[in-house]
Amino acid sequence: MERVGVLNVQGAVREHADHLRRVGSEVVLVKHPEDLQVIDGLIIPGGESTTIGKLIRKYELYDGIRERIEDGMPVFGTCAGLILLAKKIEGSDEAHLAVMDTVVDRNSFGRQRESFEANLPISEIDGEAFPCVFIRAPHIVSAGSDVSVLATYGEKIVAARQGNRLATAFHPELSDDLRMHAYFLDMVRGSSQPD
Ligand code: GLN
Repeated sequence: MERVGVLNVQGAVREHADHLRRVGSEVVLVKHPEDLQVIDGLIIPGGESTTIGKLIRKYELYDGIRERIEDGMPVFGTCAGLILLAKKIEGSDEAHLAVMDTVVDRNSFGRQRESFEANLPISEIDGEAFPCVFIRAPHIVSAGSDVSVLATYGEKIVAARQGNRLATAFHPELSDDLRMHAYFLDMVRGSSQPD
């Protein structure tokens, strides 16, 4: 059975772990560098990106996470996790993991829209629109040519994939819909097959 890690330094960890178990994955909560050796994929949850960025350095996870992603391990960043993956954060000179060819804007939806839900079609996800929960959400402002846009809200890109890297501005772990987690588990299964 595939083992998917959930970065366990801050944010919506338990909800991701529950969704992963419900789609048939084993779950490893990742807090120490050695945890990275036993996982086939990693979810970086929502929370506060500046805090998560500091903590992955403090816990000496930063290099190991980057290496595994560069080596092809599937990663799924949600909300703050999408910010962690981006190569550039608007208004900031520093990025975090910088493994996804995206430019992101934080807190893109304004104060009055701190949190809201929208049903959005997501390419790659069959069936009805997905219930997307946004909480002080970022969005992807622009993306490189090998990034596929999976969903938009108005003009804003809110879900995208670049090879083994998947990112959503919304929180799929906070709705009862398991399809995004099932999709990510399919990515993990694909990556563990021989070429
Ligand atoms: N606004 C947060 C940040 O910039 C992300 C919010 C979230 O993950 N729910 O890190």
